[in-house]
Amino acid sequence: MSGANDSYDPKQVSALSPESLAEASDAALAALAAAADLEALHDAEVAHIGDRSPLALARREMGALPPSARSDAGKRLNLARTAVADAHAAREAELRAERDARVLVEETVDVTLPWDRARLGARHPLTTLQERIADVFVAMGYAVAEGPELEAEWFNFDALNIGVDHPARSMMDTFFIQAADGSPDSGLVMRTHTSPVQARTMLTSTPPIYVICPGRTYRTDELDATHTPVFHQVEGLVIDEGITMGHLKGTLDHFAQSMFGTEVVTRLRPSYFPFTEPSAEVDLRCFVCHGDSVGHPERPCRTCSSEGWIEWGGCGMVNPRVLIACGIDPDRYQGFAFGMGIERTMMFRNSAEDMRDMVEGDVRFTLAFGMEA
Ligand SMILES: [Zn+2]
Repeated sequence: MSGANDSYDPKQVSALSPESLAEASDAALAALAAAADLEALHDAEVAHIGDRSPLALARREMGALPPSARSDAGKRLNLARTAVADAHAAREAELRAERDARVLVEETVDVTLPWDRARLGARHPLTTLQERIADVFVAMGYAVAEGPELEAEWFNFDALNIGVDHPARSMMDTFFIQAADGSPDSGLVMRTHTSPVQARTMLTSTPPIYVICPGRTYRTDELDATHTPVFHQVEGLVIDEGITMGHLKGTLDHFAQSMFGTEVVTRLRPSYFPFTEPSAEVDLRCFVCHGDSVGHPERPCRTCSSEGWIEWGGCGMVNPRVLIACGIDPDRYQGFAFGMGIERTMMFRNSAEDMRDMVEGDVRFTLAFGMEA
């Protein structure tokens, strides 16, 4: 290459020769035409138009030409550079148009695609059944009460007339909670029934009391077809003046009919619970044999073991000792209480035979109950 102060020999300034310029410009035009996308076009631009391209280097050689030769060389160079610049602009416009058209196609939203193929979640049938039960009682003027699942032993047992030495205390297969310091007796248990909410309600309200309490309860049972360590109960409690077992029976009949239809037949069977006196089991006439299996060994019923009745829950008149423990005058007020298993209610209502289906979360089970959100 020649410097500006060298004596001019046009042959030495080869970059500005017509052949060199034609070669550089042809190469540039070919590269621009061959660029298949904007990225390739950019590469071609750097190589053939950029600062280190042959055309740019040729331009720097202009200073080495004597003034007489500059005019011709300048014209050739400008023609070549203009042709290449025009070609670049044209190709860039083409490629941009192509890209815009492609983006319009590729990013189109197909509004005709179905939108409802993905399943929405729905609440568990046990949850919706709990709410349906609550609705039955709210319609009769009851309030919905809640209590903690981690409960004080006093509320779970003592307040309900289940003293420390009471056999019911050990019969309930309780989850006892270890204290933070590691001692086994924290005074807390996972509630074994929803009945402690009775005591809590009586301690915090004044009669008349009409409450329903659906909730989760815990016992140390193995999971099988008829047991689960975490299950649900619904507790009802009424405290008012002049309450009798007639009110209890009428309320339970209405509850049973709301759950199982108006054809359902109920009976109260004498029983024992520490927190009610008198106490009774609530039985339902067998849905399958309607009692026809009784005394007919030739047509046994698996559902009721040919007894004609199936047990639904427990109930009774609130024991005056419980009223006293909760600060209510037993001479003025009476009350009734009842408790039913919600899983059990669902088994009867929906012919769900295996309790494991209710807790294992298989959507094939829950789908049968609809997708109530
Ligand atoms: Zn039966």
